[in-house]
Amino acid sequence: MLFFELFQGKHRIDRNTVHSGIRAVVEGDIVTYRAQLLSAGAGESQRKKQQQHGLAALFAKCHGCFVSIPQCKVGCGLPNLYAHLFFSKIQDEATRPAIFGSYSFILPWPPAANNRILIRPNVSLQPYNTFGINATAELFTEINDEQALEELSRHAATKHILGGGSNILLTGNVGGLVVLNRLKGIEIVRETEEHVWLQVASGEVWHQLVLFAIGKGWGGIENLALIPGTAGASPMQNIGAYGAEARDVIESVSFWHWTDHVFATLANADCNFGYRDSIFKHQLKDKVFITSVTYRLAKNPVFNTSYGAIEQELAAMKVTERSVQAITQAVINIRTSKLPDPAVIGNAGSFFKNPTIPAAQFAALQQQFPAIPSYPAGEGLVKVPAGWLIEQCGWKGARKGDAGVHARQALVLVNYGKATGQEIWQLSGQVVASVQDKFGIGLEREVQVW
Ligand SMILES: Cc1cc2nc3c(=O)[nH]c(=O)nc-3n(C[C@H](O)[C@H](O)[C@H](O)COP(=O)(O)OP(=O)(O)OC[C@H]3O[C@@H](n4cnc5c(N)ncnc54)[C@H](O)[C@@H]3O)c2cc1C
Repeated sequence: MLFFELFQGKHRIDRNTVHSGIRAVVEGDIVTYRAQLLSAGAGESQRKKQQQHGLAALFAKCHGCFVSIPQCKVGCGLPNLYAHLFFSKIQDEATRPAIFGSYSFILPWPPAANNRILIRPNVSLQPYNTFGINATAELFTEINDEQALEELSRHAATKHILGGGSNILLTGNVGGLVVLNRLKGIEIVRETEEHVWLQVASGEVWHQLVLFAIGKGWGGIENLALIPGTAGASPMQNIGAYGAEARDVIESVSFWHWTDHVFATLANADCNFGYRDSIFKHQLKDKVFITSVTYRLAKNPVFNTSYGAIEQELAAMKVTERSVQAITQAVINIRTSKLPDPAVIGNAGSFFKNPTIPAAQFAALQQQFPAIPSYPAGEGLVKVPAGWLIEQCGWKGARKGDAGVHARQALVLVNYGKATGQEIWQLSGQVVASVQDKFGIGLEREVQVW
């Protein structure tokens, strides 16, 4: 049986302490490792760091367990000199006796390369999801370099990747390890007269990337301005807005495969992009960590202003000359007037996908509901705005406790303050049921449910 044991030891190392050993306390099935830092005189800062790293490295070596401690550079100030030691271990009867007792240490310096991940237990995810749901991660870590992924792969806990948390609903505490993506960097990897290829680390904030691109006058993602979240999540559901989709500009997607232990790259054609859909929601779901996305942007962009209210907004802005900057601003204006700001009311944008139904079914519905709106969706298919269907069922502005359907945009479910993920989930179930009853259409949730 795989059994994870975790203990957090926080021991300040001050001027007069040196390490003396690890104590293992056994209570039933639970083994707790306690790092003991005892006073013994000399206080050179290098030695203190050696103690931290040595403790972790030796423990890892002896027991094959996963040990992580914060990066601690030589010469860092005393306030940084806290030993945060997290030990997890596969419980194995054969090796178990070896962990008891205390140890003396030969302290390696510099610390082993794998000592750069800090894993924290019981971390609140409330600041990390735009619904503002109060749930806890059993284990939590942030990564800011790709190599850390190789190390994390050895950690047997189930992994959940978190970007900006703007497309998830937490229906309870999250077991396993939540990995917060902080990979950063934008690099031009190719350039021609017409195009530029940007390799963007997956933890970059999407809207910052849009601003970066329009700052250079490059086009292709201006219609996708102000979509919250990270670049790494853009291929996940093939983000889209105002007639543009990420797949229009994605050249390739690179990722780390958790179980194959390889970095790999998929070309656009192999990502199976669809409407709010991709291979990353199916065959590769929970199997990969997207590390970077390469986008191909246009140096002489062709503008797409036919969708939504972009033309009207450009007119209201008195724009005479089209530019990526003007279109971005128009999109920002429209979005801020229509969509609730997660910083004010918790939400994850559109909660449901717009359903696609057979044209024959649509024709029958049109008899009954002549005002039903639609968009073409390929041969013999019609797309119906989910917001309209939900509104017709009387849900717009409805509220159950702190969970609600937004008053201006029925497609958006909101958390007015203290709603739980379960309450929002239940409300979404009631919305689905009434749309099914009235129109015979099954709504699919766009938001990822954890
Ligand atoms: C106000 C608002 C407006 C929105 N408008 C739009 C819109 O117009 N169009 C649109 O398409 N979406 C929209 N969204 C939804 C959301 O912003 C996007 O889906 C966004 O891409 C999510 O990014 P994220 O980093 O927050 O992902 P998260 O919510 O953190 O994660 C979403 C899913 O992707 C997975 N994931 C995230 N990063 C990685 C990675 N690096 N590797 C592998 N898996 C990963 C997660 O595990 C999770 O399953 C909106 C959301 C809000 C709150």
